[in-house]
Amino acid sequence: MVSPFLSHALLLGCALALGSALSAQAPAGATPLSPPKPPVSVAPHLEVRWKAGLATQKVTPPQFMWMAGYGGRNKPAEGKVQDLFAKAMALEDEAGNRVVIVTLDLIGVPQALRREIGAKAQERFKLPPSHLLLNASHTHSGPILRTTPISAEEEKNPRLRHSWQYTQDLQRSLVELIGRALQNLTPARLTWNKARCGFAMNRRRDYSLPPDHPNANRVPNPDGPVDHEVPTLRIEEPNGRPRACLFGYACHNTSLGFYNWCGDYAGFAQQFLQEHRPDFTAMFLTGCGADQNPYPRRSDVVPGITDLELCMQHGRSLSNAVEMAMVVNPRPIIGRLRAAMQEVKLSYANSKRPDHDYPVQVIALGDGLSLITLGSEVVVDYSLRFKRELGNQSGIWVAGYSNDYNGYIPSLRVLKEGGYEAAAGWAQSVEERIAAKVHELFKATR
Ligand SMILES: [Zn+2]
Repeated sequence: MVSPFLSHALLLGCALALGSALSAQAPAGATPLSPPKPPVSVAPHLEVRWKAGLATQKVTPPQFMWMAGYGGRNKPAEGKVQDLFAKAMALEDEAGNRVVIVTLDLIGVPQALRREIGAKAQERFKLPPSHLLLNASHTHSGPILRTTPISAEEEKNPRLRHSWQYTQDLQRSLVELIGRALQNLTPARLTWNKARCGFAMNRRRDYSLPPDHPNANRVPNPDGPVDHEVPTLRIEEPNGRPRACLFGYACHNTSLGFYNWCGDYAGFAQQFLQEHRPDFTAMFLTGCGADQNPYPRRSDVVPGITDLELCMQHGRSLSNAVEMAMVVNPRPIIGRLRAAMQEVKLSYANSKRPDHDYPVQVIALGDGLSLITLGSEVVVDYSLRFKRELGNQSGIWVAGYSNDYNGYIPSLRVLKEGGYEAAAGWAQSVEERIAAKVHELFKATR
């Protein structure tokens, strides 16, 4: 029989042995970290016919100003968990056609800001406005933006003064950012594919249930429509070194409700993709996630887990999907770059309200992938519809939150059902007007 003292000594010995093993190698069952390897192309047979240029700019506010997203905020930001970034990707095809995609860890892209930057980029870099895309992650842990000049009276209010000043500075730095990405154009190989990630869930109630059903007002709705695809564009150098990726997901960046600057799950996904790759740029393009929330969301759902931990889990889950989309069965991007953007007039049910000029854009990345971008907060029905209607002609990637920020854009289904995403008061023509413009521009870029 082993004496209690000896048993304790044995256990201690095991613990010490395990400790030294841990420092030397990964624990049993774990995949050891592999040493750095020379870069290998995922598509070595593909000729290098494109050029790509990247640029990144930190856009974390210089002071703790007021935060965007939630109406119930009662004080300015108090800290920072993550920096916020603007990132630009310039692409040029063999014929010299160029497009610049800008992603922002911010709440939205105000139309006035988009128009001003588009005009400056055309004047300074000869970039047509239709060949510029500005997309925001819709993080609710970023600053309030303001494009309306402030009066002398408003100047005294730090909340208004800071948001106006911040937005003015942002405008200037985004024009510089676009210029830097265009200056950095060097030969690149482009591939794309998609993976899946499952944390987005439809946040609207199930409107098919009768009002007296016990679950009639319960959310989220596991049976509601979602778009779990993670389309990913991979940019690699001629030697195969991955240089950048652009990835999409259709879900609100609302894991967090605290008073710290943070990119939310999209900020963490970008961070995780970049942190083990030197000189690599990961960019997040928000999809049609207006009626989608992260699931689970907020720590009162999962005991013992903080909001921030849940947010990081979602970021990890999304970055894992992107890792796969970057290497599995790469689809080549071959052919010409074409882009078209037009505004379509959207009407309100109240005919006295003026129409809204709503931007629709199609960017054909060669023959196999078309990026459809829509303004403001677009519900998931749009991306499902365009993939269904156009997906037999091209890979279809639909982004919302692009080039405009003017509240929610419901589908006809959501508009008829009612609820939060239908409250802006659009006329029932909203979906068909947008869809007609998407089809027209898609055809024009074939
Ligand atoms: Zn929103």
